[in-house]
Amino acid sequence: MFSCVSLGDSQNICVLQLAQQLTPLDVFLGLMAAAAHDVDHPGVNQPFLIKTRHHLASLYQNTSVLESHHWRSTVGMLRESGLLSHLSADISLDIEQQLGSLILATDINRQNEFLMTLREHLDNQDMDLQLVAHRHFILQIALKCADVCNPCRDWKLSRQWSERVCEEFYRQGDLEKKFDLEISPLCDQQTDSIPAIQIGFISYIVEPLFEEWQRFTAPSMLSQIMMGHLHKNKACWSRLRYVHTAAETKTHLHPGDPELEEGHKEAEDIP
Ligand SMILES: [Zn+2]
Repeated sequence: MFSCVSLGDSQNICVLQLAQQLTPLDVFLGLMAAAAHDVDHPGVNQPFLIKTRHHLASLYQNTSVLESHHWRSTVGMLRESGLLSHLSADISLDIEQQLGSLILATDINRQNEFLMTLREHLDNQDMDLQLVAHRHFILQIALKCADVCNPCRDWKLSRQWSERVCEEFYRQGDLEKKFDLEISPLCDQQTDSIPAIQIGFISYIVEPLFEEWQRFTAPSMLSQIMMGHLHKNKACWSRLRYVHTAAETKTHLHPGDPELEEGHKEAEDIP
């Protein structure tokens, strides 16, 4: 992984490895946050917890409810396991706080805030990984990238996870319907198709973030591969959406129409 690093008199050198800039503590925090960032996820989103007056929503005052729960559950496990018990109370507390700051950064409601700051640093070329605060910020960005990176993986694998997450959304939608609540966006199996959900997710969340990540990494071979998958997967979902819409409306195409038949065949094993 390569990065643009501002050194002393503002010379930018894009060949230093990010991994070499991180301290062992940074690496530990990054791995720990990645492993723990979704601990005890209930499989429903924050608006659902708020409208059903779930105790977690009131505990965390309707703000970053899930992320706060993932973090505090992790802290509970850390304390119970005694994993950090060889460290002083000060250091343990600092680790807990840093874990919190990393995990809370995965709140998708704060996406723009992080994206703007990253863009600003890259435009000004003032990222200095010698600074603790800048390294922490890059760990937050790396975790956010890892959290939403599914569309950057090989189609076959990526598609499976996309379908699973949509099943989770639909389960929430079914629950909302059952309890006569308004169905949340993306959760209505009747109107929100998997391809449409994925194209929105890629266009508004994943692509803008990974474009900046690629810029930050100079770009690295890995980020180029990930962007390659991202563009290919987006095209696959677009084709599937076309087939889906055509099959639904049947306005332009009819069953037996060679174009639709071809689309169905393709949909089986895209790309
Ligand atoms: Zn996650």
